[in-house]
Amino acid sequence: LSSRLGDVFERLKRRGALSETDVSEALREVRVALLEADVALPVVKDFIASVKERAVGQDVVRSITPGQMVVKIVHDCLVETLGTAEDINLAAAAPVPVLMVGLQGSGKTTTSAKIALRLKTLDKKKVLLASLDIYRPAAQQQLEILARQADVGSLPILMGEKPVAIARRAMEMGRREGYDVVILDTAGRLHIDEALMAEVAEVRDAVTPTETLLVVDAMTGQDAVNLAREFNEKIGVTGMVLTRVDGDARGGAALSMRAVTGRPIKFLGAGEKLDALEVFHPDRVAGRILGMGDVVSLVEKAIGSFEEEEAEKLAAKMAKGKFDLDDMAAQFRQIKKMGDLKGIIGMLPGIGKLKKQIDEANIDNRMINRQEAIILSMTKGERKNPDLIKASRKRRIAAGAGVSIQDVNKLLKQHQQMADMMKKVSKMGKKGLMRHGLPG
Ligand code: GDP
Ligand code: MG
Repeated sequence: LSSRLGDVFERLKRRGALSETDVSEALREVRVALLEADVALPVVKDFIASVKERAVGQDVVRSITPGQMVVKIVHDCLVETLGTAEDINLAAAAPVPVLMVGLQGSGKTTTSAKIALRLKTLDKKKVLLASLDIYRPAAQQQLEILARQADVGSLPILMGEKPVAIARRAMEMGRREGYDVVILDTAGRLHIDEALMAEVAEVRDAVTPTETLLVVDAMTGQDAVNLAREFNEKIGVTGMVLTRVDGDARGGAALSMRAVTGRPIKFLGAGEKLDALEVFHPDRVAGRILGMGDVVSLVEKAIGSFEEEEAEKLAAKMAKGKFDLDDMAAQFRQIKKMGDLKGIIGMLPGIGKLKKQIDEANIDNRMINRQEAIILSMTKGERKNPDLIKASRKRRIAAGAGVSIQDVNKLLKQHQQMADMMKKVSKMGKKGLMRHGLPG
């Protein structure tokens, strides 16, 4: 996002709470950013309206800066609209038919092979690829070559066969030879073409696909809305794939298509190679659409100040050698907040290693949630004085948090270790070691 937006947030930061005017001012800049990312105009309008409603209707948390509020609300709304990551649906009798549709050159053939490779390697599926593209010269051969590269099956080419017949023959071969999945790669069209659309509908009726994936180039601009609507109305789309996210496009099409169809974005194509297929991460795509470069540091700063306050409180307790279960819960919250930054940080170039660490931290988030739940199931007294927690109380807490007694024990042990450490640090502090660079 532009430094312009940064300026607005800087100004907002100096004020107390967000007024409606403040929100509108910030959202004007967000609107420009979304249009620059090629999100379709009607989608931008709806999105801005919903963000505004949420921002103005929501209490401003005092300890959080107004700028952070707006960034968080915009970002959260984007992530929400983009939907959650969903894997390919293969819940049907084998061979499961998957139909690939989209404009010419969008990446259907490449994506077909990528998905085949993924299903083969990750899910140990036996996959058959079949090209229904009888129009473009050598299109069927192209898929055959890719199938060989991915080391998956491909339907033998018969010249002069019509798409519906090819689709039927593919399903037949799939059944006969025990394939788990049959991916049908259709012919593209330069723009929405009634004849070709009717042909795809005919194929659909012949095989009743479990998945119909609409493949769209990330560079697709304002057209994405019509494209997605047409394919969804005429063919029925179950999911979408956004290709060429390895290019410069900010991928506003993802938001447009999602808003229009309500269908999940299942994969991202990030290169020409067959392993360049990624599962969809709404937070990463949201960050990319917003183009948050400057705002990232801003959000970090804002969260940082909040954390500082919490950290100071904690440090004061540490200095006294006190660390109860409430303090532990506060620490969990901080860790989780850092996890929320994952999506934004993930967008920054050249930090692959950090990204991996954060991804791993995210897995931990579920664990942290569970540990938090355990603490929340305790009474106030128990949290202040864990020694109170004996067998019967443990049973009650475990039941309340939906975990086992062992989980409660593990948490209490962990707390004990932390508390002991705090005591040690505090003693060292009293000897004056804190001033020599130990954490304070
Ligand atoms: P189709 O006409 O829809 O079947 O499109 P193709 O699969 O033939 O792809 C057209 C071109 O785009 C080919 O040169 C592909 O290598 C390239 N391509 C497909 N997906 C991606 C992607 O995710 N990133 C990049 N950089 N190129 C891609
Ligand atoms: Mg093709």
